[in-house]
Amino acid sequence: MKKYNFSAGPSTLPEEVIQQASQAVLDFNNKGISLIEISHRSKDFIAIMDEARALAKKLMKLDDNHEVLYLQGGASLQFSMVPYNLLKSKAAYVDSGNFASMAIKEAEKIGKIEIIASSKQDKYTYIPKDYAVPSDADYLHITSNNTVYGTEIKTFPNTNIPIVCDMSSDILSRNINYNKFAILYAGAQKNLGPAGVTMVVVDKTLLGTTGRNLPSYLDYEVHLAKDSMANTPPVFAVYTTLLNLRWLDKQGGPEGIEKKNKEKAELLYNEIDRNPLFRGICVKEDRSLMNVCFFLNDEEKHKAIFDQMCKDANIVGVGGYRTVGGYRASIYNAMPLEGVQVLVNVMKELEKTHN
Ligand code: PMP
Repeated sequence: MKKYNFSAGPSTLPEEVIQQASQAVLDFNNKGISLIEISHRSKDFIAIMDEARALAKKLMKLDDNHEVLYLQGGASLQFSMVPYNLLKSKAAYVDSGNFASMAIKEAEKIGKIEIIASSKQDKYTYIPKDYAVPSDADYLHITSNNTVYGTEIKTFPNTNIPIVCDMSSDILSRNINYNKFAILYAGAQKNLGPAGVTMVVVDKTLLGTTGRNLPSYLDYEVHLAKDSMANTPPVFAVYTTLLNLRWLDKQGGPEGIEKKNKEKAELLYNEIDRNPLFRGICVKEDRSLMNVCFFLNDEEKHKAIFDQMCKDANIVGVGGYRTVGGYRASIYNAMPLEGVQVLVNVMKELEKTHN
C-alpha cells in the first residue's frame, strides 16, 4: 500500500511521474538503453534539457530577459553563487527562517551584508514586513517559504532593488509574477522533482558586473552560455523534473495547482484551529500553503497514540523539524487532497477517542 508521504523534501511525487521515470530507467523510449546510460551530449538528452527549460519558462510565464538553468549543489550552493555573481558593495537580507539565516552566513563570507529585518527573536513565527530596502543595496535576498517553521510570503516587497528569492519550498505552487525576480532558485526535491538538481532562474541583463574572476562552475554566465550543460548534468533528476513539469502543466500550471493547494491547506488549518487537541505554530496571516506546522497541546498524553494512529493510516513524514518539534505536514503540489483528508480524519479520531 502506497504511503501518504508528508516529508518536507525529498517529498511525494505524482504516481504517474514515478511510473514514467521508472520505465525510462529500465528502457528509455523503447531504445533498448536506460535513461541513466545515455550520453548527455546525445540528441535525446539535449531534447530533454531543452524541453525542461522551455516548459519551466512557459509555466512561469518568463520574459526574454529571464533564463532557466538546471544546476547542482542544491539550493545551498546558491547561497554562495548569488553573492559571487551579484554582490559589489553590499546586499540586503531578510532573516525569516533557518535557511534564510544560512544564506546570510554564506553571503557574509563574500561581502558586506545588511540584515534589514528578522523574525528570529520570535522563533521565526511570522514573515517580517514593512522594512525599508537600502537604496544602495546591490540586491535584496528573501525566502518565499520558510520550510521549517511554516510561514510564507503572501505579498512580495515592492522595490527597485533587484530581488533574489529562495523559492525552494514553494516554487510553482502558486500563480505569482515570476518575472519580478532578478534571480530565483529552488532545490528540486520539494515541488519540482527528485534531489540532485536545482532550478535557477536568472535575469541575464543583471549579470557580469562584479568584475570577479569566478571559478567556472560558480559563474551563471558560463552555465547560460552552455544551456546548463557546462559539465555533465544530473540526467535522471532533470528528466524526472521534466516529467513533473508536464504533470503540472496538465493540472493547469501554477493557477490550477494554486486552487488545489489552497483547498488542501484550508482543510488542514481549519482542523488545527477547530480541534482542541492541536494548535498552530505561526501567525495566521503568514501561514504556509506548503508546510503546515502544528503542535499537540498535550504531548505527554497524546503523542504516542497520535503517532501510532498516523502510522496505522499509512501516514509518514509528519514529524516536525528537529529544532522545532511537534508536527509538520508538507503538502506540496503532488500531495492529493485525499491524503490531507486522511490526516484530518486521524486528528478527528484522536479527539473522539482520547479527549
Ligand atoms: N532553502 C530552503 C527554503 C530549503 O527548504 C532548503 C532545504 N530544505 C534549502 C534552502 C537547502 O536546500 P538544499 O538541501 O537543496 O541545498
